[in-house]
Amino acid sequence: MPESDYEWLDRMNLCHRCRKERPAPGRKFCFDCLDKIREENARRYDPGKAREYQARRRELYRQKKTAGICVRCSKPATHGIYCYDHLIAAKRHNRETAERRKMQRHERGLIPEKRVAAGLCPRCGAEKPAQQKYCDDCIKQLTDALNHGRDKSPFRSMERQRYSQQRSRRYTNGNSA
Ligand SMILES: [Zn+2]
Ligand SMILES: [Zn+2]
Ligand SMILES: [Zn+2]
Repeated sequence: MPESDYEWLDRMNLCHRCRKERPAPGRKFCFDCLDKIREENARRYDPGKAREYQARRRELYRQKKTAGICVRCSKPATHGIYCYDHLIAAKRHNRETAERRKMQRHERGLIPEKRVAAGLCPRCGAEKPAQQKYCDDCIKQLTDALNHGRDKSPFRSMERQRYSQQRSRRYTNGNSA
C-alpha cells in the first residue's frame, strides 16, 4: 500500500498544515499553525451554543458526582469522581499535558536563541541588519505597541494635553509680542 500524504509528512517530521515547519512536540502541527488553528476555531466558535453545551455538561457532571457515578462513564465512582479506569486515564492525561506544556515551553525558549545564533530576528526569524536587535518590521511593531500603550495611559494623555496647551500659549504670546 502506498504511503499516505500524512504518513510522508510524519516521516519527514513536517507540519501537516503548512508542510514546511517542524511540528510541535507530540503534535501534528507546528507552533505557528497551532496558533492559527486556535484563532480559526475561536472565530468559528458560537458563544451561545457553547454556553448551552457547557451548562449541559456541567449539569451532567454535577448529577453524576452526587450520584457517585464516574464523571467520564456510567460505572460507579470508586476513586473520587472516577472509576478506576478513568482515574488512571485522567492521571495519564494530566501527566501528558504537563509534559507537553513543558516541552513546548522549552522549545519556544530555544527558538529565539537559535535565531540569535543565526543572526536572525529573535522575534520572527526574518533577516535583520547586524547592528539591530530586531528586524525592521518587528521594530516597527514593537514601537507601535509601545506608543499604543502610551496613548492609552491617562497620565500620558494628560501630560500631552498640558504640553500642547503650553505650546499654544507660548505661540500666542510669541505672536503678540
Ligand atoms: Zn505549520
Ligand atoms: Zn469511568
Ligand atoms: Zn522580526
